[in-house]
Amino acid sequence: MGRINILDKDTFNKIAAGEVVERPASVVKELVENAIDARTREIHIEIQGGGEDMIRVLDKGEGLMEEDMLKAFMPHATSKINSADDLFRISTMGFRGEALSSISSVSKVMMRSRTEDEDGREIYLEGGEVHYEKYAPMDRGTLIEVRDLFYNVPARKKFLKSSSRESGIINETISKISIAYPEIIFTLISEGKPVLKTYGTGNQKDVIRQVYSKKVQDSVFYFESHSDSLSIHGYIGNEEISRGTRNQQTIFVNRRLVQSKIITAAVENGFKSFATVNRFPFFIVNLEIYPELIDVNIHPQKAEVKFEDERHIYKAVFDAVHQALSEGLKKTFEVEKEYIAQDSFEQLTTKETDGPRYIDIPVDITERSFPKETKEEQKAYGHGSIPSEPLEFSGRVTSEEVIETGSLNVSGLESDTPETRSEAKFPMPRIIGQFRSTYILTEIHDELYIFDQHAAHEKINFEKYMDGIMKGFVASQALLIPRVLELSIEDFRLYEENREVLSDAGFVIEEFGDRTVSIREVPYFLGTIEETSYFHDILDNIRNLGKGTREEVKYMRIATVACKASVKAYETLTHKEMEYLI
Ligand code: ADP
Ligand code: MG
Repeated sequence: MGRINILDKDTFNKIAAGEVVERPASVVKELVENAIDARTREIHIEIQGGGEDMIRVLDKGEGLMEEDMLKAFMPHATSKINSADDLFRISTMGFRGEALSSISSVSKVMMRSRTEDEDGREIYLEGGEVHYEKYAPMDRGTLIEVRDLFYNVPARKKFLKSSSRESGIINETISKISIAYPEIIFTLISEGKPVLKTYGTGNQKDVIRQVYSKKVQDSVFYFESHSDSLSIHGYIGNEEISRGTRNQQTIFVNRRLVQSKIITAAVENGFKSFATVNRFPFFIVNLEIYPELIDVNIHPQKAEVKFEDERHIYKAVFDAVHQALSEGLKKTFEVEKEYIAQDSFEQLTTKETDGPRYIDIPVDITERSFPKETKEEQKAYGHGSIPSEPLEFSGRVTSEEVIETGSLNVSGLESDTPETRSEAKFPMPRIIGQFRSTYILTEIHDELYIFDQHAAHEKINFEKYMDGIMKGFVASQALLIPRVLELSIEDFRLYEENREVLSDAGFVIEEFGDRTVSIREVPYFLGTIEETSYFHDILDNIRNLGKGTREEVKYMRIATVACKASVKAYETLTHKEMEYLI
């Protein structure tokens, strides 16, 4: 080991900055929190280049006193606490006095500020070094401009995602903070385009409308519950707006955006008893608790809190959500009674048995690059026609052979030269029959094989669809009535980012502005499906792919969701159709 060095101030600050400033969104978060602490009624945020090039935050709060301008950028400079004791009664967003010094050490910062009684001042720093300080006129409030983030820490720059993705994270951050502060007017402009505007009405439901959509606003139930030490209120979404990811879940503890496994579990479990599908609910939880009963100082970005009494929190949240849902759903209960009765009956009857065991039969039909065969070979395997007595199975299937029946027909995707061919690893089974319009029961050498017809159907659709996409020919079908969807800020950005990929995959979409799109055409095999909620699932499924993701991966993600949506439950098949499918 070498000798011990005392790090110089610059190095030390850059290391410290790494904890607070992970990416552009962390800068935005800290600046906005400072504005909130300055008791502003209005916050304007503007970003360029995903926040890497520029972040500008303007507030109309209390401003900084002339002699505090410089101090604010020193490490551990804060006006919010005086001593360690204060840590246990924090009522402001900031308290560590680290944000401005950290941010300024890894960027170029201009701050202009004015209090009620003094003149305005401007200060400019690069890499933490003050370049000038001067008089500058302005209205009361503070303007901060952060440029060239990480210009002097190239290693950190490398870890950033595409600027579109970084913008997305910023949108999400601002969206969530704006929900916590419905009395503040937020404006977010990204790359010159307005992305979010809230109106400071004080009503959280109004902000839900702005951040998500009218549909979401109309699909949430309010809940609240109060006890001596804590108070909870918020919104839980109905099943219709639940999603495949936890993206629509927001927790505030004393108005601070945090993550909390306890609260998430409490809401999800409260929701589960009312859900018929296994998806993540939409929710917003606001928890107000005595600052003495939590520790907010356990995470560098203040993104987690520790509760003194976790069980009490769990129970309070669970009960509030559970009650809201049972009351909220009561209203729609009359209409749905029939379905519920039928569903629970079906659950009862299926649960009576020991439950099925699933075995994966190794059918290798995923190979997409199987060498081409000659025309003779194709003929030999009965290409394109139904084998009349397929008892002795030839061992090979061409994709064309597989489907021609009913809704299984995907004729638009047919091609003349089959490149997709596969090896079947078991003989053609003898078909016994269909069970509950769902499973195909078959027999091979005294053994019972059960095929999930929907999974099979899904897989076949998937292969054909992927094949179509890769060949640049996907048959689309115009919807009789185009589906108009209002997308959330985040979904709209994702849609914009993936416009081409979606169009390659057969979706013809028109934009109306204001985050509203109209789906005019969909892949052929989706044509008859009324609901377009699968579109949200498609977006969810391509959400977290990284910067360099190949398009093929995106296509596969789209195809997976689309094919799931395409398969109808409970379809009676004829013997021929079953044979065909298998
Ligand atoms: P903290 O918020 O933890 O106190 P910061 O580094 O974020 O630390 O800010 C340092 C200080 O600068 C704050 O305590 C506050 O006094 C002042 N300050 C920063 N931003 C603003 C603002 N927008 N309006 C008024 N004062 C501000
Ligand atoms: Mg702060």
